[in-house]
Amino acid sequence: MTRRERLVDVLVVGAGPAGLAAAAGLAAAGVREVEVLERDQQPGGIPRHCAHGGFGARPTGDLSGPAYALYCATEATDAGATLRTGITVTGWAAPRTLDATGPGGLERISARAVVLATGARERPRAARLVPGTRPSGVYTTGELQRAVHLHRQHIGTRAVVVGDEPVALAAADTLRTAGVHLVARVTEHPPRPFAAVRPAGGAPLLTRTTVTALAGRPRLTGVRVRHEDGRTTTLACDTVVFTADWIPDHELARRGGLPLDPGTRGPAHDPAYRTREPGVFAVGNLLHGGESAATAAREGRAVTGPVLRHLATGTWPAGGPPLTVAAPLEWIAPNLAGAGGGGRLLLRTGRRLTAPRLVVSQDGAPLHRRRLARPVPPGGSFTLTAHWLERVDPAGGPVHIRLG
Ligand SMILES: Cc1cc2nc3c(=O)[nH]c(=O)nc-3n(C[C@H](O)[C@H](O)[C@H](O)COP(=O)(O)OP(=O)(O)OC[C@H]3O[C@@H](n4cnc5c(N)ncnc54)[C@H](O)[C@@H]3O)c2cc1C
Repeated sequence: MTRRERLVDVLVVGAGPAGLAAAAGLAAAGVREVEVLERDQQPGGIPRHCAHGGFGARPTGDLSGPAYALYCATEATDAGATLRTGITVTGWAAPRTLDATGPGGLERISARAVVLATGARERPRAARLVPGTRPSGVYTTGELQRAVHLHRQHIGTRAVVVGDEPVALAAADTLRTAGVHLVARVTEHPPRPFAAVRPAGGAPLLTRTTVTALAGRPRLTGVRVRHEDGRTTTLACDTVVFTADWIPDHELARRGGLPLDPGTRGPAHDPAYRTREPGVFAVGNLLHGGESAATAAREGRAVTGPVLRHLATGTWPAGGPPLTVAAPLEWIAPNLAGAGGGGRLLLRTGRRLTAPRLVVSQDGAPLHRRRLARPVPPGGSFTLTAHWLERVDPAGGPVHIRLG
């Protein structure tokens, strides 16, 4: 089958908040051919099926997910970007040349710069290695929301939600909307200080509790759990929702040979969102898993300057040394030293931190020390100012960030 071959200035893969913000910024800055490819039938990314508020900031104010998705898409098209939906990017023919497939057939599109914005997904049950049967009635929050809000499917009658990050509350809300009784929320983490053990909706939050197996076939009949004291129970239910535990949607990046950061599992990148592949940038949840839409859109906007510089000069500074973290810190983004960027780094912790002191060093020499004013919950992220990056020796070893 023949492929249609074309050349554009900037090709953006993924029309979520990050990709749309990048497209809007680049088109508004005068880049002539900014094209966004999106595999879904509509642009907007995850917010499209989040039928609740909590999206947007200045200048929009608080918006529902679908309203925010529409706002982002309109901003991009009004600026002059071309949005093409129903088109999946399947691989790379060469650096900065991507293969795509859609209703019109196969295409091969070359670009002077590529911006990857393919987002992240929650790890499904199989990837969490939960033993037991393989019944129906098992979802991630994203799958649940699509089923309820986009496809109006019948879900079940009694549900267990696994996780206690904010997205677990979105899952509980969606279940309530669908008329499903919430039996319990389950988390391996200890209770958060001041958190209600029986929050709104009346379902208990079982902390320090592990899911050990799923039971039932063909439909789920129960979730087996082990409590901290070793007792085991089966929570009778026909639906279970696995929440959070994000993994970047990095398949396309991997097919392009882009090195991934071992912590985030997203493309390694510097503060200007440059990956190790010249001309290929990455933004949004692809870089770090589940952060807010505002963070994803901020990164999309922030990539405008670096892309414009690359289009004007064709230069691609050699990547600096990696930024690495020590447990309980799980990752840092950006994770390559370098110039440019938004002046802040994002870090994630695996356990609760109370006023931690962070120490940054390279080859044994301290570069920066800072105490955080606020506690951070397990699985929570926080920011670190990036001015000390100027002191990193580009020819030196990895930069280590640890608790001091
Ligand atoms: C249940 C839930 C509730 C949430 N609630 C909130 C909230 O209240 N407030 C908030 O700020 N944030 C919330 N978030 C987080 C927010 O949705 C994300 O931060 C945001 O969507 C990330 O934007 P993104 O552009 O990086 O990725 P995404 O929104 O995931 O967009 C990525 C896009 O890339 C497309 N794509 C991927 N691969 C390809 C390919 N190969 N070819 C073509 N297209 C491709 C995907 O189809 C998708 O549309 C929520 C998330 C979830 C799951």
